[in-house]
Amino acid sequence: MGSWPYSVQIEKRAINPSCGAATSSCGVARIASRLESACLKVPRLICARRALKRFMLAWLCFALTPIGGSGGAAPAVGEPRTQAELEKLFLGVPDPKVAEEDMRALTSSPHIAGSPEDKKTADFVAQKFREAGLETEIVEYKVWINYPSEISVDVIAPSGVKMHGPRPEHVSSDPYQDDPRIVVPYSGFSPSGDVAAEVVYANYGRLEDFKRLEQMKVDVRGKIVIVRYGSNYRGVKAYLAQQFGAAGLLIYSDPLEDGYFKGDPYPRGPWRPATGVQRGSIGFSFNLPGDPTTPGIASVPGLPQSQRTLPQRAEMPKVPTTPLSWADAEPILRYLAGPESPRDWQGALPFTYHVGPGPVKVRLHLKQDYAYRSIWNVIGRVRGSVYPDEWVLAGNHRDAWVYGAVDPGSGTVAMLEAVRGLGRLLKTGWRPKRTVIFGSWDGEEHGLMGSTEWVEQHAAELDRAVAYINTDSAVSGRNFGASAVPSLKQFMRDVSKAVPSPKGGTVYEAWRAAGENPQQPDVTGSGRIPVVQFNADVPVGDLGSGSDYTPFLQHLGIASTDVASSGSYGVYHSAFDDFTWFQRFADPDFTYEQEMARVLGLETLRLADAELLPYDYENYGREITAYVRTAKERAEKTFGKPPSFDAALEAAERLARAGAAIAGVRPKDTAETVAVNRALREAERALLLPNGLPGRPWFRHAIYAPGRYTGYAATVIPGVNEAIDAGDREAIEQQLAALTAALERAAVMLERTR
Ligand SMILES: [Zn+2]
Repeated sequence: MGSWPYSVQIEKRAINPSCGAATSSCGVARIASRLESACLKVPRLICARRALKRFMLAWLCFALTPIGGSGGAAPAVGEPRTQAELEKLFLGVPDPKVAEEDMRALTSSPHIAGSPEDKKTADFVAQKFREAGLETEIVEYKVWINYPSEISVDVIAPSGVKMHGPRPEHVSSDPYQDDPRIVVPYSGFSPSGDVAAEVVYANYGRLEDFKRLEQMKVDVRGKIVIVRYGSNYRGVKAYLAQQFGAAGLLIYSDPLEDGYFKGDPYPRGPWRPATGVQRGSIGFSFNLPGDPTTPGIASVPGLPQSQRTLPQRAEMPKVPTTPLSWADAEPILRYLAGPESPRDWQGALPFTYHVGPGPVKVRLHLKQDYAYRSIWNVIGRVRGSVYPDEWVLAGNHRDAWVYGAVDPGSGTVAMLEAVRGLGRLLKTGWRPKRTVIFGSWDGEEHGLMGSTEWVEQHAAELDRAVAYINTDSAVSGRNFGASAVPSLKQFMRDVSKAVPSPKGGTVYEAWRAAGENPQQPDVTGSGRIPVVQFNADVPVGDLGSGSDYTPFLQHLGIASTDVASSGSYGVYHSAFDDFTWFQRFADPDFTYEQEMARVLGLETLRLADAELLPYDYENYGREITAYVRTAKERAEKTFGKPPSFDAALEAAERLARAGAAIAGVRPKDTAETVAVNRALREAERALLLPNGLPGRPWFRHAIYAPGRYTGYAATVIPGVNEAIDAGDREAIEQQLAALTAALERAAVMLERTR
């Protein structure tokens, strides 16, 4: 839990007349200062030696200044740099050719979390971090995760219907598909089990779907439930199947969702082929992400067993669950009898879907290999020159279900190019004002393991964090999108205005144009449409869950952002998310990787060097006001005369007023600047609930949490909204009081600086 040793102290910024700027990076300053001290002992020689030294320095600095990155002209070392000059130099570095090489290296073999190939990608990323000049370490954790040992799904009735799955993922041509290291499709955190039962179809496996089955008098207890992917997080499907008493769960990819209904399947087009399977974790990460055997503490390698929850006592799914391709699901669905499914439950397979139960019977045989397995985060940092105790964090996961070209290779490639750009600036002697830390997280796919364990380990120090910049599947196509806490939404638009788009113009212009195109309504990159929007500007989405910003934002209250450039991505979590698919359908010339590297890098640079942090709490307060109003209307519908929302509304408006006021503050000196920045940083922290959300204390943010019934999508003011859903008047009052207190704390934090 201790603080990290900075083994390399950043050398004093020695200004010398020849090099001008800090010369620690060209290594000449040390020689120079030794020469200087020698000179001082022999006064008569000073002038001659100094003249010689100046000449040597000028020559050496010129000779040693590295010229890296295509398009990045060598900087005029020593000239004072404005932010605009720095950004220009940075933007010139990300290079599509380097991105392509990195992508090839990262996707050369399957690299599931904990595998030797995964460790190799950690070494690769660490090497790249070091080359850029980051102080780098590989951090290991031991986490409780499963690999598949025996996975089979067989149709055993009616006689004559045959299916023995899962069949291997296979298409007519793909150079990577026959690698024996490709993991059999399975569900992370499924228990082992051997069940034979009749099948019931439950649409997306949402709460309303299970309730609909109840209304239809179709009993799912003891049955194997089959549901389609889509609409919610797969762990929510497993959670509800368990609550409703299912004996087994099959989750398949309907062609309506990401297959031939959308367009040509791979390899002809980008969509999911018949045999393509979506692997994925079904862990209850909406209650507790990370290692389920170490809630709230880090799974460091030496953690005594006594400090871990026994796996059999940890909160993990109880219903044996496994994913299927539509080719394997088809015979099950085709022969189901019972009532015709509601019409909006119909997928794109060529027959009318029925709900069962039976007469189709399936035997589900799952043997999971659970163990404590090593995972490896790579952490790289540059100590800040002015505010070393203010940290700007950026990260992306590295583990993949198979090759993971899009998810997460495209994010790692963009991050590595952003890091290389920063390295280029470091080589000129520049240092960020704030400390910058990059994280390459492991074990994300199994349930945000690497980021969660790291955040839990460093929770105390992370009160220094200014922001966390996330990306995951950074590039699957050409449509830019961003999500952020409301205080950083305008910041995201501003960053996008400074980055060129491969489509011409700026990223912002392309983003805006896409928003005006009704064919492309999702401009948030991750499908989280903002709940409210106050202006006609391009919408920035709300942060739900499903990626590594969760522990930063929702556990520690660190303002976060997430970006992606998305497209027709039908191979998510399948073996076909590989280099070939990526180059053909996502980003043939790697210019969108270049774009995303520039976006991520610019976010980092601006947050690291901003004199005043660019937080807009007026917008935050206004968005929360709208959330509270909407919740009030919902409560009125349920209760007629609900508890009073007035105090919460007033507190949200007070936050907006305090946000507007602090935006107008112009600090007179450094002390005031530091105080204003601290207030801006800690206002987000103030939104944490001391006791967390009811029933899931790890989630402490009063404004955002993953929905317990939606999983990925953000639930806003979750305590209040979930109490309304539950129809619990007393809980609504309690949650409104907790929300009001949090909003007042945040407002007071900002008001103090006046
Ligand atoms: Zn991912």
